Amino acid sequence: MMLKDQAALVTGAGAGIGQATARLLAENGAAVMVADWNEDAAKATAAAIVKAGGKAQPLKCDVSRPSEARHAADQTVRAFGRIDILINNAGITRDSSALKMTPEQWEQVLGVNLSGVFYCSQAAAAHMRERGYGRIVSASSVSAFGNFGQANYSATKAALVGLTRTLAIEWGRYGITVNAIAPGFIKTSMTDAIPQEQREAAARRIPMGRVGEPYDIARLYLFLAAPESSFITGALIVADGGQTLLH
Ligand code: NAP
Repeated sequence: MMLKDQAALVTGAGAGIGQATARLLAENGAAVMVADWNEDAAKATAAAIVKAGGKAQPLKCDVSRPSEARHAADQTVRAFGRIDILINNAGITRDSSALKMTPEQWEQVLGVNLSGVFYCSQAAAAHMRERGYGRIVSASSVSAFGNFGQANYSATKAALVGLTRTLAIEWGRYGITVNAIAPGFIKTSMTDAIPQEQREAAARRIPMGRVGEPYDIARLYLFLAAPESSFITGALIVADGGQTLLH
């Protein structure tokens, strides 16, 4: 059990990649705080983990609110006695071509995808520093390299690279590694909104010949969250089936 006796906070864990990650961390021995702004979804994920013999608690949390992010980290420590792992997975899209994008679309996406990662990281690191150990992994995206209709989303996912590298520099001295992952096209409710023919065309452009599944990304989160990954920090690891090699 790679994560025996460890505790993890996973945001956006009610669905998609976050749900798969919460389950995989629990299968590997971690107690998991299943945080999502959709309370029912958080409860369902936590219940599935407990039913499978793992340890988990649900938590309603909107990561874009500093007080809720702080509460999520504190609650993880209260419930499990510690916080070893933070998976900054919560993210949203509010797509529009740039000329039509409203201030609300811009600000909502920045609030969740960028500010949320900062608030949760700051809250978790305050606890991790005390114990001299931590693993923080955040969801960037291949859209960080630019994507039509995603000026807001792309800006946040690119900004996470600078944030990740800076936190890695500042918190290495506390035994905390900080990394980001850049998934390509992964089949979740986020991408289910994309029309069928566009999804099929995307799959044809991927060298591995398929779109990704949530567990393809959960396994990368697990790898970076493991104690053994102690010499990897400030990295951005792409997991896209080779999609961006052809750009
Ligand atoms: P998803 O299926 O939409 O799941 C995300 C979960 O996070 C949902 O339960 C969502 O609730 C929740 N959430 C959204 N905003 C939140 C907030 N402010 N606080 C707490 N929870 C919140 O998304 P996914 O596809 O698994 O994506 C997970 C992460 O990977 C995101 O950061 C995304 O940007 C990134 N990513 C995904 C892909 C992909 O192809 N799927 C590719 C690259 C990167 P609601 O559903 O109610 O909003």
